[in-house]
Amino acid sequence: MAEAELLSDQLLYEFRTMQAMVEIYCKVHHPLKPARDVCLQCSEFLSYANTRLDRCPYGQQKPTCNKCPVHCYKPQMKQKAREIMMFAGPRMLLPHPIMAIKHLLAERKPAPGLPPEKASNRHFRKVKQG
Ligand SMILES: [Zn+2]
Repeated sequence: MAEAELLSDQLLYEFRTMQAMVEIYCKVHHPLKPARDVCLQCSEFLSYANTRLDRCPYGQQKPTCNKCPVHCYKPQMKQKAREIMMFAGPRMLLPHPIMAIKHLLAERKPAPGLPPEKASNRHFRKVKQG
């Protein structure tokens, strides 16, 4: 997916984790689709998630969404994210043990304070572009 190329390091890793979860979820919930990774609806969700990651005000210091005080998802997407996590979270350990464990460890970090200024991935992209 081309969009993932906007992201790097922690944010890209988080996006890959999200992608893996959506694949697990979509396979079971939306089995009737053309032969590709995820259905259109789920791929739209991933694209939304990608934009949120790019604009996350914490940038590379992003906490897990669960711990975050900002709540940047719109309600409908937040609901979908919750559904996907609840279903795919417990099913991640076998196919993606490292992603699953990293995420569990991140969940144990304390909640952060308010985000710093100008730390988002998007901000740094714009700076680089000049
Ligand atoms: Zn789907």
